Amino acid sequence: MPEKSTAQQPGPKADKAADFLDTPVEQLPQVASRRLQLLHKLEIYTVYDLISYFPRNYENWSNILPVDSLKDGEAGSFTAVVRQKPSLQRKGKLSILRAVLSDGSGTIRAVWFNQPYLLQKLVKGETYFFRGKIRRDGRNFDVTNPVIESGEQDGSFLIRPYYPLTKGLKQGVLRTLIEEAVQPAIPFIKEPLPAVIRREEKLCSAGFAYEKIHRPSSEEELEIARKRLIYEELFLVQGGLRWMKMSSRKDEHSFSVVLSAGQKQLCKAAVSRLPFSLTDDQRLVCRDILADMGKGIPMNRLVQGDVGSGKTIVAAIAILACALCGKQSVFMAPTSILARQHFRKLSVFLEGTGISIALLLGSTPASEKKRIRADLASGALLVLVGTHAVLSDKIEFAGLALTVTDEQHRFGVRQRSSFLDKENMAPHTLVMSATPIPRTLALILYGDLDISVIRQIPSGRIPIETYTAASSDEDRLYGIVRRQVEQGRQAYYVCPVIEAQDEEEAEEDSGLMSAVELYSHLAQNVFPEYHVGLLHGGLKPSQKEDVMERFVSGEIQILVSTTVVEVGVDNPNASLMIIENADRFGLSQLHQLRGRIGRGPYRSVCVLKSDKMEGIAQKRMQTLCSTANGFEIAEKDLELRGPGDFFGTRQHGIPALRIANLYRDTDVLSRVSKALDRIFEEDPFLESPSSGVLIPAFLQRFGSEINHPSL
Ligand code: ADP
Ligand code: MG
Repeated sequence: MPEKSTAQQPGPKADKAADFLDTPVEQLPQVASRRLQLLHKLEIYTVYDLISYFPRNYENWSNILPVDSLKDGEAGSFTAVVRQKPSLQRKGKLSILRAVLSDGSGTIRAVWFNQPYLLQKLVKGETYFFRGKIRRDGRNFDVTNPVIESGEQDGSFLIRPYYPLTKGLKQGVLRTLIEEAVQPAIPFIKEPLPAVIRREEKLCSAGFAYEKIHRPSSEEELEIARKRLIYEELFLVQGGLRWMKMSSRKDEHSFSVVLSAGQKQLCKAAVSRLPFSLTDDQRLVCRDILADMGKGIPMNRLVQGDVGSGKTIVAAIAILACALCGKQSVFMAPTSILARQHFRKLSVFLEGTGISIALLLGSTPASEKKRIRADLASGALLVLVGTHAVLSDKIEFAGLALTVTDEQHRFGVRQRSSFLDKENMAPHTLVMSATPIPRTLALILYGDLDISVIRQIPSGRIPIETYTAASSDEDRLYGIVRRQVEQGRQAYYVCPVIEAQDEEEAEEDSGLMSAVELYSHLAQNVFPEYHVGLLHGGLKPSQKEDVMERFVSGEIQILVSTTVVEVGVDNPNASLMIIENADRFGLSQLHQLRGRIGRGPYRSVCVLKSDKMEGIAQKRMQTLCSTANGFEIAEKDLELRGPGDFFGTRQHGIPALRIANLYRDTDVLSRVSKALDRIFEEDPFLESPSSGVLIPAFLQRFGSEINHPSL
């Protein structure tokens, strides 16, 4: 007896209920282990995830017709009475349930295969809603396996949600699971959107939205729910990122880099020694950077510029400014080859200024490394160039003012620097990216990172010509390769995979060209007289370096590679690139890839090879052939592909969007952005009680992907 009364106490029950949204789905009655795996595949872990798993589309069943108006061959909805007790017949494993239905206008025969349980559901004399594919022969109507809904409902089943599925999970199962979780979950949904915003934007409540997105009674309700959820999603994702960034910057100070008149002169003199003059865009970006670095708070700026737009010199000027003020800078590159190249260019640029510079790579001898570290700690060394990998070790600086990260799109933006500054100052950060991220996406990706764009390409470049081709053009392409090599040029072949078996696609897509395969084919059968090289991510870093060096030096004439060449060195002598299975790459990725050629004074050609040049694939390839503008291409990519995992946002720790679409919902995104500006302006670290509801909402939306220093 006492046991029973304890069990009925409201305390523990209420507690459990308070956590309902965070309840793991395995605690729901219908979720057994097999189903759990499938749900996890869809990234559904908690009840919150389940109710935030939104339909991909809906069918509107509300056009209910009299039976005699139903059309042959079409899906139709009707309400009708069950005339006699349905009959159930079994033939071996097969069960057949038959019923005769009528509505006054006519009679229709219904049959259900292997759904014997419907016998209990269909009561003679009762009225139900039916939906199914109609067959009509004169006055005879038939319907097979129609969906049944009881007539007493409110009609909310008439707009039928369809969810994205995974193999093994049935639409009906998932729909029921979600339906049964939504009702009990609604009372626990907290309203994360401030009342002012909801009023201004005319947004419905959270509870209403979550209920109606799964079970709308009308198209209008569905629209109201969608509008709110799109806003909410963009608000939580963007707001969460800003909050993470703000809190990581709290109480940070940086050196303010302000040049005296004399130092400005020195800076101008170095620029005037360059063999070219800066473009207007380069000048503007330098001005942005110097203004940022003049403040005592850390700069956090992204410089975007298409391949070849001249970002390096902008970084070099920022480094020079710091060095003239006696402060240190670090320049990080993704590969040793790039680091070496930057080191050479920077050394030339700094010549005659007396500013000390060093290069630190994995292969740098230990004694040299030791000396560099000591000079950084003492302040004797002002500029350090190296790879991201090497510089992720703890390094001590006398006064670090600036870190420059080149080709950031390959790395997590929110990677914390591990540099220690003796004066406990946070460095200014400058991030250089050739990925032309559309503004809308940058707002999400980079939160409150400031963005500068270099749109102009220095004059005098010969544009790359881009064409499409199919496998049947192979021999002709070999001829083109041969002509280029005979003229002393070099060529790239790019493949989507390393080896035929290394990707799961292998079995479903046998037409995929692998780098290893193509390499041996070209080296042995097609171009035995030339030096063919192979480069891919499976090689050791030292092997990759070696291959790249031999390609740059001209020894390797034809380089077969995977996308590892995407972030790579200048080889101005390479004039031809053939991309296999081009339809398999993102548009922006293809644009990056072709940026490897056309870097010298030669006419350059990029060939997009694919045997799937239809529909969207064809449109995508045409975009590349018709424009060389990386931003236009990125916008088009977003439009044609949808934003699912654009530019690998997942790698950046940003949750996949569930309902908002960055291409379609640009307007909402910029309104959200403005609303967040106001919130963060008033309360930068979300410390006031009125912001209290926001942080838990961000945490819930980001789930395990949260990346916050306080956690
Ligand atoms: P990216 O933006 O792809 O990093 P780089 O900084 O490597 O481009 O510059 C590409 C090439 O253009 C380099 O050889 C560089 O010296 C040259 N360059 C940079 N700015 C200019 C300019 N204003 N005019 C002419 N050439 C330039
Ligand atoms: Mg560069």
